[in-house]
Amino acid sequence: MNAQNPYIPLDRRPIRQLDDAAANRIAAGEVVECPASAVKELVENALDAGATRIDIAHADGGKTLIRVTDDGHGIPANELVLALSRHATSKIDGSDLLNIHSFGFRGEALPSLGAVGRLTITSRFTGSPEAARISVNGGAIGPVEPAALTAGTMVELRDLFHATPARLKFMRTDRAESQAIGDVVKRLAMAEPHVGFTLRDVTGGGEGRVTFRADPQTGDMFDALYGRLRGILGADFTANTMKIEAEREGLLLTGYAALPTYSRGAAVAQFFFVNGRPVKDKLLTGALRGAYSDFLSRDRHPAVALFLSCDPERVDVNVHPAKSEVRFREPGLARGLIVSALKHALAEAGHRASTTVSDATLGAMRPEIPQGRVYQMDRASQSALHGAYQFQQPTQQDGFQEGFTDFDHASGRVEPVPSASDGASALDEALPLGAARAQLHENYIVAQTKDGMILVDAHAAHERLVYERLKTQMAEKGVAAQTLLIPEIIEMSADDISRLLTAAPDLTELGLTIEPFGGNAICVRETPAILGEVDARAMIEDIADELADLGQTQTVKDRIEAILSRVACHGSVRTGRRMSAPEMNALLREMEATPHSGQCNHGRPTYVELKMSDIERLFGRT
Ligand code: ADP
Ligand code: MG
Repeated sequence: MNAQNPYIPLDRRPIRQLDDAAANRIAAGEVVECPASAVKELVENALDAGATRIDIAHADGGKTLIRVTDDGHGIPANELVLALSRHATSKIDGSDLLNIHSFGFRGEALPSLGAVGRLTITSRFTGSPEAARISVNGGAIGPVEPAALTAGTMVELRDLFHATPARLKFMRTDRAESQAIGDVVKRLAMAEPHVGFTLRDVTGGGEGRVTFRADPQTGDMFDALYGRLRGILGADFTANTMKIEAEREGLLLTGYAALPTYSRGAAVAQFFFVNGRPVKDKLLTGALRGAYSDFLSRDRHPAVALFLSCDPERVDVNVHPAKSEVRFREPGLARGLIVSALKHALAEAGHRASTTVSDATLGAMRPEIPQGRVYQMDRASQSALHGAYQFQQPTQQDGFQEGFTDFDHASGRVEPVPSASDGASALDEALPLGAARAQLHENYIVAQTKDGMILVDAHAAHERLVYERLKTQMAEKGVAAQTLLIPEIIEMSADDISRLLTAAPDLTELGLTIEPFGGNAICVRETPAILGEVDARAMIEDIADELADLGQTQTVKDRIEAILSRVACHGSVRTGRRMSAPEMNALLREMEATPHSGQCNHGRPTYVELKMSDIERLFGRT
């Protein structure tokens, strides 16, 4: 303690300026967290220099070597020293921090990297007769020397963090760091589809192994992006996406978003770009969740690559040293645009879901039969092969007739169903979902279409239709209720009861009337008429769970939709119910007429389609 002033510790030192090396090392802590963030800075520099091809090589997860080579405009020899000093940049003049069009502008990456690793920059400025090189090691800058390079810039970073052993300890395994580098490069490759990228793992020396390659794409922004996304996310993604293009008050949203049926178990395929810069932002992912909330259960995540662009003044990218976070001037506008554009696209997609079976699935359906051998099968092995699916050719002799058939579980035979008069005519095959031909396992409907067949999960489809009907009723005049002859008394926990009673006014509009019933019970008086006879107890318990899950965070509308979706499950055809031909065809027609009927309330497809060409491929006919 200080004798004069007990509040000033004796060991306080006076304020003084840190030297450049220390300042750079501190800045490096913010800009360069790991090898992947070094790669990000170097590739962004190459893009800012107008490169059309960028090659990234790394060894040992980027810990021992990162080398980024580009064909951009290069750096003049007499600016190399400046490039390595802090807050020195060619990208802005400092007068207008709100009007930024480049990835970089802080002038911090190269000095930071030079402070925590061995950095060498070799560059040949456009039009210059020769190249030059400069090295910096742990902050000590060497001389500018002549070098050999035909064009562009090559930046080599060796032994990252060798000068800061504490940071070295925080590095993950080579594998994890390599993976992170791959992710960074792929994000930037999506942001710049016209630029070609190669990523090579050169661990152990030599040319190394190409781990990612993206050839330069041509065409307009949508075409180029489509090609790039197919390369990075796969053909299954592009085959199942919706093109997004929307504008609101000068804010533009473009890109591709997958149909709900192409969803993922984690948020691994959500890519957002703000003014061309890859960002990770809670506002944007939250908006995405909102847009798909109607189609996906909470453990499924949509896949998207979406680009927001606006006047740079309307978004602040300078809130984080790595610029991976942004702040919108009008966050509500950005959110609203994303939610409405995606909801609109989803509505337009209508019953189109992940309808065409992917190549992988087709492959899996094809039995492995060795080539060039002929199998002679006896009757016993034939029926063993067919197992439960004893789909036989109907013959007159067996008492079958043409047309509608129904599979009988008990006998394992295909039973005839009266046909023709029910309207399952050739005409219906022209409709998108075709004409119902059979029902399997008392759930799946087989329908014939003009150019193939579809298989409908009747239970899932019905659930979705009931949900959509409920929503329509809800929007028009509230859901019609039906009074229970004998009110149902349900005992529940105090928490559940209080949540249910708080939601009671909303539930009334949904056709569900509940009242307190003293102590620890509630009384159900009315249920939604559309559901017919329901197990009121099971439904109320489900809704109580949903309310507990939702918490208070959701908007009233989202909550109502979540509850409706639960309610819909209770009115659905349960698996095991046999349907008549007219019922099946009616279901198909209603699916065609109903928006969003291509996926169930949990985001699974309600039907899949096999085109004739797919069927022919399955049998090796093409
Ligand atoms: P910033 O990108 O924020 O300007 P950096 O420290 O990353 O800061 O780079 C400093 C300067 O070096 C850049 O402004 C640019 O002029 C030059 N530079 C860096 N990398 C390259 C490159 N690959 N090609 C051309 N110029 C480059
Ligand atoms: Mg930079």
